[in-house]
Amino acid sequence: MEQTAHVCMTGPNALEIARKAGLEFCGKDYFFTQARWDALQETLKLKAAGEDNDDPARRHGTVGAVACDSEGNLAAATSTGGWTGKAAGRIGDTPMIGAGTYADNATCAVSGTGHGEIFIRWTAASEIAARMRYAGESLEQAAKHVVMVDLAENDGSGGVIAVDREGNITLPFNSEGMYRGFVRAGEEAVTAIYR
Ligand code: ASP
Repeated sequence: MEQTAHVCMTGPNALEIARKAGLEFCGKDYFFTQARWDALQETLKLKAAGEDNDDPARRHGTVGAVACDSEGNLAAATSTGGWTGKAAGRIGDTPMIGAGTYADNATCAVSGTGHGEIFIRWTAASEIAARMRYAGESLEQAAKHVVMVDLAENDGSGGVIAVDREGNITLPFNSEGMYRGFVRAGEEAVTAIYR
């Protein structure tokens, strides 16, 4: 974003730009974990047998962060391996600003995890900001509606972590659990998995 006129790039030239910018690169081995490899083998086996297993714990692996500084500046970041067994070339919600990741100082910062295709169709992250901006909803109301109604009623399992410029935090999810945590300056960190 700082070195080209663009905000989103993919493919060989994105790699080239990252190399030129001096980003650290690593081999494929760096990304290998036994648990994810096993999950992929299991998914491929199920697919070959014509079965579909919808266990999100096996299908997904995403980490996100949102932050609010002392001046109310908001930021969001999300990183993912995507969806186990996805087609080559599939782009999920994570790098799509407005779908799985969004931050706007006027409203909130959001990072999502879950069924990316549905997050994209409902532009989940920016929809939370839009509900705050245009309908005057609080962060909690807006995020709850998007996760528990828009996503949940449309096969969009998952959740979001979000913070607004006053430092309000919400972490709604419609799945069985979501690894999550938050911390405020000078306070103890809080972590949870299930409700
Ligand atoms: N949302 C991610 C994707 O669909 C997956 C995940 O959150 O686990 O690519």
